[in-house]
Amino acid sequence: MRTRPRPCYLQGVSGSSLEQPLTSHASRTLLDAVWDAHTVRELPNGDTQLFIGLHLIHEVTSPQAFSMLRDMGLRVRHPERTFATVDHIIPTKSQQRPLADELAEAMMTELEKNCRDQQIRFFDPGRGEQGIVHVIGPELGLTQPGMTIACGDSHTSTHGAFGAVALGIGTSQVRDVLATQCLSLARPKLRRIEVTGKLTPGVYAKDVILHIIGRLGVKGGIGFAYEYGGPVIEAMTLEERMTVCNMSIEGGARCGYVSPDETTFAYLRGRELAPKGEAMQRAVAWWRSIASSRDAHYADRVEIDGAAIPPTVTFGINPGQSIGIGARIPRPEDLPADERASLEEALAYMDLRAGAPIEGTAIDVAFIGSCTNGRISDLREAARVAATGRVAPGVKALVVPGSQAVARAAEAEGLPEIFRAAGFEWREAGCSMCLAMNPDKLVGRQLCASSSNRNFKGRQGSPSGRTLLMSPVMVAAAALRGRVTDARELL
Ligand code: SF4
Repeated sequence: MRTRPRPCYLQGVSGSSLEQPLTSHASRTLLDAVWDAHTVRELPNGDTQLFIGLHLIHEVTSPQAFSMLRDMGLRVRHPERTFATVDHIIPTKSQQRPLADELAEAMMTELEKNCRDQQIRFFDPGRGEQGIVHVIGPELGLTQPGMTIACGDSHTSTHGAFGAVALGIGTSQVRDVLATQCLSLARPKLRRIEVTGKLTPGVYAKDVILHIIGRLGVKGGIGFAYEYGGPVIEAMTLEERMTVCNMSIEGGARCGYVSPDETTFAYLRGRELAPKGEAMQRAVAWWRSIASSRDAHYADRVEIDGAAIPPTVTFGINPGQSIGIGARIPRPEDLPADERASLEEALAYMDLRAGAPIEGTAIDVAFIGSCTNGRISDLREAARVAATGRVAPGVKALVVPGSQAVARAAEAEGLPEIFRAAGFEWREAGCSMCLAMNPDKLVGRQLCASSSNRNFKGRQGSPSGRTLLMSPVMVAAAALRGRVTDARELL
């Protein structure tokens, strides 16, 4: 298959070029602009063969894909558009090679070998380049507006914060992208989520997205891409927008994005793999032109009052089961009949009482990190709370930077000392207890206050472990008090 040059400003990528800035894009959304620019052809079944500008891979979903490629006698079609890191299985206590866990060492060795064989850049922990795939793409300037991005991980939607169409894919699709740099996809419908007004102090991006999912439901986004906008989103930093877009998938959406603006361009300027000089000027002109127009048409619109969003905590077994910190856990009889069974299941698993306040719920573990909330701004805010006290007796508290670069930035600001002085463990970069495919796991029925993105049964390593999702600041407050706490009391 021959592919025409694609709109892309990856450093050193041959065959990439920029589209001319769109001059007439009345009533056009970013989704349509990006989708159309990457369409290779429409397929007979109605799907689009979509060119993927950037493919991010990691150790968990790539080995089988590489093996299928070898079986077919194929090579990676665009190694210069493919980048690899190790995140899920890497331990956070010591990353000394060989890794203590033989399976983890084997997976990492396999990834290194595949990258060597296929001339793919591997972000090596030994060189200080490693991190969670959704943290390092943005911080290196790989993630750019107008791109199509794929990765074998659900939370690829994170990259939509830059105005990219970023898609989580399965292992067979990882194979397809490795072999062809294309995916066969149905174009999703588009829902505009407008967050109006202004957040109140002590309310963070994590509260915003938990609130949105709580209102629309975990299946509310099926068939949709989410476009976030409005004054609250526009006022957010790129890192905050990443937190919001990260959890789009938890609301059932195929992806989520924010149109690029001056905040986006300022974030990208000077990053290692972002365009430089005159190339940056041309890139910004293109990026600006693909933002959704003010009169764009959407399949659906939702308005959320930002001022009414409280610090939000989950109480159940999916991210839609959440309430404000001052609210009481719902009672089955207060819900529509079709929602009662899942609430009863959640309460039984979580061992929480209907009608009880969530505030004051005792915790065993506190986890600050993940691709949702393991960035430097998250750690800074959590450190403000940590500086006010000591971790409560009996609580295990972890802080895990999202990347080695985040760790270095935190060290330069003295954050590890603040956390350690408060009784937190300061760890090395990785996914850690978000998914617990490494030694960081809950034990038995432990209840964890977590800044990650999923509270499914058994998600954090123990088949009966329990998770309460909340912002990093709220996790830090829960760690100090030993129970779910309104962090605004400590800020
Ligand atoms: S931090 Fe969690 S959600 Fe993010 S990539 Fe790692 S395991 Fe997946």
